[in-house]
Amino acid sequence: MTYQTDIEIAESVEMEPITKIADQAGFDKSDIELYGKYKAKVNFTALQKMREAPDGKLILVSAINPTAAGEGKTTTVVGLGDGLKRIGKKAMLALREPSLGPVFGIKGGAAGGGYAQVVPMQDINLHFTGDFHAIGAANNLLAALIDNHIHQGNKLNIDTRKITWKRVVDMNDRQLRHIVNGLGGEKNGVPREDGFDITVASEIMAILCLSNDLNELKEKLREIIIGYNYDDEPVKAGELKAHGAMAALLKDALKPNLVQTLEKTPALIHGGPFANIAHGCNSIMATKLALKYADYTVTEAGFGADLGAEKFIDIKSRMANIAPDAAVIVATVRALKLHGGIAASDLNEENIQAVEEGLPNLLKHIENMQDVFGIPSVVAINKFPTDTEEELHVIRKKCEEIGVNVVLSDVWAKGGKGAEDLAREVVKLCETESTLRHPYSLEDPIPTKIEKLVQKVYGGRGIEISAEAEREITRLVKLGYDKLPICVAKTQYSLSDDPALRGAPKDFHITIQQVKVSAGAGFLVVLTGRVMTMPGLPKIPAAENIDVTPEGKIVGLF
Ligand code: ADP
Ligand code: MG
Repeated sequence: MTYQTDIEIAESVEMEPITKIADQAGFDKSDIELYGKYKAKVNFTALQKMREAPDGKLILVSAINPTAAGEGKTTTVVGLGDGLKRIGKKAMLALREPSLGPVFGIKGGAAGGGYAQVVPMQDINLHFTGDFHAIGAANNLLAALIDNHIHQGNKLNIDTRKITWKRVVDMNDRQLRHIVNGLGGEKNGVPREDGFDITVASEIMAILCLSNDLNELKEKLREIIIGYNYDDEPVKAGELKAHGAMAALLKDALKPNLVQTLEKTPALIHGGPFANIAHGCNSIMATKLALKYADYTVTEAGFGADLGAEKFIDIKSRMANIAPDAAVIVATVRALKLHGGIAASDLNEENIQAVEEGLPNLLKHIENMQDVFGIPSVVAINKFPTDTEEELHVIRKKCEEIGVNVVLSDVWAKGGKGAEDLAREVVKLCETESTLRHPYSLEDPIPTKIEKLVQKVYGGRGIEISAEAEREITRLVKLGYDKLPICVAKTQYSLSDDPALRGAPKDFHITIQQVKVSAGAGFLVVLTGRVMTMPGLPKIPAAENIDVTPEGKIVGLF
């Protein structure tokens, strides 16, 4: 059987003018800035005037530990939004913007798939409204100001060997990971070792996503630590007087982008921080805006629930003062087979036993969501064309056995119609009383915070801290950064820090290699291994298939 590609499906459906979608969402004409016919930015005024209005319900979509291809969280968010609309609810989506890195690399787009997509998917996947370029410009302005300050006499005494601020570009470009710049003699700057990160890994991206308004954005930018001086004291962006100009570059990027799904549900797509080095969810501005205007907001937290949902709850919920009313845990037959010990190349073959043996991974995420975080939850089995009835039955039976809500979701093939059952279940869950629980308190000492995450959320025994991390923790305590929430950088493939440990491993220890502060964004990054902040392209990059016709039509995009 052959299937239409995502781009073919997207192009076969006629979009509504975005003005109509805005109107349907309840935005005033004066609150909307048009970016062509099908995209708009929503002004700050739209949120300001609703300050006192009650919030709608918030639905958090997360997943089990995924395969490399992703288990369909975004696709489920889109389909569930459409499903809610079909059963007569006023729904809005809040999603991340895709990065050009994965678009031209391997993972593919981030605008959903099949009949559950946001459109115009070509634009959303390629530049969109230019937010990421603005973030890159703000980031690189700071970098230029740092090097200029050193060139002009270095009044702040910045130790060029201890600059932590890197330049960024929104591209997978391993060539730029480590560079030497400032070469060419006295007139051309001060030579030093430097490097690039991908834009989505930058602290500016996290700051944009964690700011409640423009003022807070500027304050956070001021607090960024760019490196250390010769006395080993932090040097901040504010000391370089960089934050005002950076905020100026970001003023439009901070406004949420409005688009639509294939079934005309309004979608806010805004911000896209990495889910390892940062917190991995769309902007606070977009989520809050959706909560004010829709009765049901559906949003996604990156990777599996151990990383994504945990950070949503411990970082974003805290900073935005919001809490999910219900959670959807996306599970797939193929990921469960992987957890059941099957090789990635054999996932298309029926294997009931492997599905069964992979179930502990799902069960741990259910326990986390319901018992550790306290959110009423439902498992959505995201149905793939290769799944067999027996395989799907295994998951459903187990969930029913232990009294967990479970629904088959078929949004990729059927759009919102494939999520009507899921939508009804979610509406029901939103009526359940619940209190959000945080696995650790901000007052806990840094090692205790990490230990609690390992024991409660990952199911491990404890932590081991490297000498380097130990020294860094001592310094952070001295500098007064020990009350910040934790942002764990760890593999998405396992509940542990070893990608090969599938299922629900026990008795493991997590090794803390480094601890770094993102003082602007307001969290401590805890690195459990080498974390890639500038990916490379694969042997056959997706870019090789992408083209544009003389008429300007994009082809080959997934
Ligand atoms: P995530 O957000 O969890 O990373 P996505 O929703 O982006 O996952 O989906 C990953 C990829 O899998 C996309 O290319 C999407 O089109 C595809 N996909 C998702 N759900 C299905 C499904 N049920 N059947 C087939 N392909 C799917
Ligand atoms: Mg996604």
